[in-house]
Amino acid sequence: MALSVLYAGRPARWPEFQPPLEAEFAKAGLDVHLATDFAPETVDYIVFSPTGPVSDFTPFTRAKAVLSLWAGVEKVVGNETLTQPLCRMVDDGLTLGMTEWVTGHVLRHHLDIDKDVTRSAGNWDAEIPPLAPERPITILGLGELGRAAAAPLIGLGFPVTGWSRSPKSVPYMTCLHGKDGLKDALKTAEILVLLLPNTPATENILNADTMGLLPKGAVVINPGRGPLINDEDLLAALDAGQIGHATLDVFRVEPLPEGHPFWHHPKVTVTPHIAADTRPSTSAKVIAENVRRSEAGEPLLHLVDRHLGY
Ligand code: NAP
Repeated sequence: MALSVLYAGRPARWPEFQPPLEAEFAKAGLDVHLATDFAPETVDYIVFSPTGPVSDFTPFTRAKAVLSLWAGVEKVVGNETLTQPLCRMVDDGLTLGMTEWVTGHVLRHHLDIDKDVTRSAGNWDAEIPPLAPERPITILGLGELGRAAAAPLIGLGFPVTGWSRSPKSVPYMTCLHGKDGLKDALKTAEILVLLLPNTPATENILNADTMGLLPKGAVVINPGRGPLINDEDLLAALDAGQIGHATLDVFRVEPLPEGHPFWHHPKVTVTPHIAADTRPSTSAKVIAENVRRSEAGEPLLHLVDRHLGY
């Protein structure tokens, strides 16, 4: 009998996701009926995003796994109706998207590109910017995305420090962990990139105290999640000059509300949660592979630790 796979992602993206998902299921040799609507008790797998229609998993009594289209699972990980294994999205498209976005925004600040492209006649004298080896960068979060985003920066010669919960070893990177490690990771960070998940342990990790540890004028780049930053503390640190600029892709409330001070602050750049979108062609491969694994009794990829929240 065909497996019933429910697409419970954003409805508007169903036309984009249906063809690659069907193609990848077929390539994996799986007999799948993929649809946006089933009797819940007949569903075998749920392809999920929080922007889709499912928030109560109780009626999905036969479902063997929930396969998230998003890398960040903070909106579903605490859902008490979810008793099935939860897998998050890790795929080449997401990883490359984030790597490109982080590299671009780091270089924008490192080279002070805004200043040079907004010159006018009579304003020719320029300060020589430091080269990469003179610009220490710290990345908080050394998971799939943090490690990938670090690679081109290391390649360019930036001294990169990374910080994670558990000890890590990454070639050509100073890897730190734990509370004391965080202090050391912040002390040198002229550019700080946040690539942590949103969990109770990471909420407000960037606050007045931790921002106070950064070198004066440090740049904060946040493609992780909005709640990693205490917004009021960030605004105060920007106004005091402790933070030189913040480039923010993610926010506590999205879309960022019209009246939010970030929109008009001269030292804040807002981007609309576009650092790394889930691409149908690459994510469909991961979804199909996980269904294949589950059916073959093999371990699932990218299982979320419900206790840690990521
Ligand atoms: P991941 O592979 O799960 O990596 C998370 C990293 O954070 C790991 O290194 C982990 O440490 C570290 N970490 C977690 N809790 C910590 C704590 N309490 N203290 C110190 N380190 C901690 O996640 P990922 O795939 O790299 O994705 C990271 C985040 O990026 C996602 O959760 C999501 O919020 C965000 N994201 C944003 C976009 C966007 O478009 N803006 C797109 C995709 C993802 P360990 O290595 O020790 O476990």
